[in-house]
Amino acid sequence: MNTEDNLNKQAEAIQTSRVGDLSSSLSNEDKLAVYIHFPYCKSRCPYCDFFRGLLPKSFNEEELIQRYLSDIAYFADLFSRKQAVKSIFFGGGTPSLLSPDAVNRVLNELQKKFVIAKDAEISLEANPNTFERDKFLEFRQAGINRLSLGVQALQADDLKKLGRTHSLSDALAAMELGAKTFPKFSIDLIYARPLQQWDTWQKEIDTALQFNLSHISLYELSIEEGTPFYRKNIQPMDEEQSLSLYNDTVSYLRSCGFQRYEVSNFAKSSSHQSVHNLTYWQGGDYIGIGEGAHGRLRLNGQIFTTLDGRLDETLTPQERAEELVLMGLRIEEGLSEERFYKACGIHLFDFLSKKMTKRLAQLDLLCYDDANIKLTDKGFTLMDEIILELVS
Ligand code: SF4
Repeated sequence: MNTEDNLNKQAEAIQTSRVGDLSSSLSNEDKLAVYIHFPYCKSRCPYCDFFRGLLPKSFNEEELIQRYLSDIAYFADLFSRKQAVKSIFFGGGTPSLLSPDAVNRVLNELQKKFVIAKDAEISLEANPNTFERDKFLEFRQAGINRLSLGVQALQADDLKKLGRTHSLSDALAAMELGAKTFPKFSIDLIYARPLQQWDTWQKEIDTALQFNLSHISLYELSIEEGTPFYRKNIQPMDEEQSLSLYNDTVSYLRSCGFQRYEVSNFAKSSSHQSVHNLTYWQGGDYIGIGEGAHGRLRLNGQIFTTLDGRLDETLTPQERAEELVLMGLRIEEGLSEERFYKACGIHLFDFLSKKMTKRLAQLDLLCYDDANIKLTDKGFTLMDEIILELVS
């Protein structure tokens, strides 16, 4: 048996020991997703509007763990019986700066207070730098079974331009190890970089696909107010060029066996789609652990937002319905009437403008029947405008 087989056996044994017996009697949609927020980064990427702060010199991991444990206990107490969990996601910031022991302790606490489903997806976002790469094996041993790696570019010059601190060889080494170590492995790349051309971008995709990926996320570079790129007046790629790059990318990935299941996310099969992100897009319940973490939770007939590890405001069914349209049309399968009603208590086709739905279908921008509404390929290119028309 080789090292990876051994490692997978150990990790599976740990996950099995965390599994509870309630989880199998519930449908996946009734299970909870848990987001654990790690707010810090080692440096700021100049395009990023998620940046919340540099890892303080005085960073005290124990304090942060105690905060996580207290938030977990708070949410567990809201339910009359242990809730089943289908997904746990360590996101940020740069959660791979956590120690594997911290990840292990958080997972153990979740296992004590909730019922972790046998097939739960347990993800961690990581950067390819050596410091984080060196911990991959231990993260796997702690129970992480899906790694999402922030590669962003597979060209040395563009990595520098994007202000990334990892080199091309770091990215390649981290991809090789990530693909070997984790049963589910995904990378993020950024497209529509200034002056980017299709042929060089295609080569980057080809390089990525050599690593036997089954999931890939591609994000358009946008220049957001307040970011260093905005202050430097970096110009985004012309809209038409960016759209053409996107359309070519979707076609190319399809020809390589990847289906777009969300506007920026591609998977080889439904079993490789991100369970955690699908929870957001399909209107499921999720709680956010840690400062700055958000959530949505149906409890005692009300819809709550969660913020900073606590219940926050209540949402009206209409407010939640608007969010559901915004999220649900991002996915290829679209919005389901059944899920929509379950999430907000309003019938989908009572909420959407009937006249506009019909008109957009005539323009081949969406299609619908009694049970579902979804965008067409043409509709995906005008997603934001269509959503605005449907909910206004
Ligand atoms: S892109 Fe990631 S690593 Fe870079 S600043 Fe944003 S959150 Fe931090």
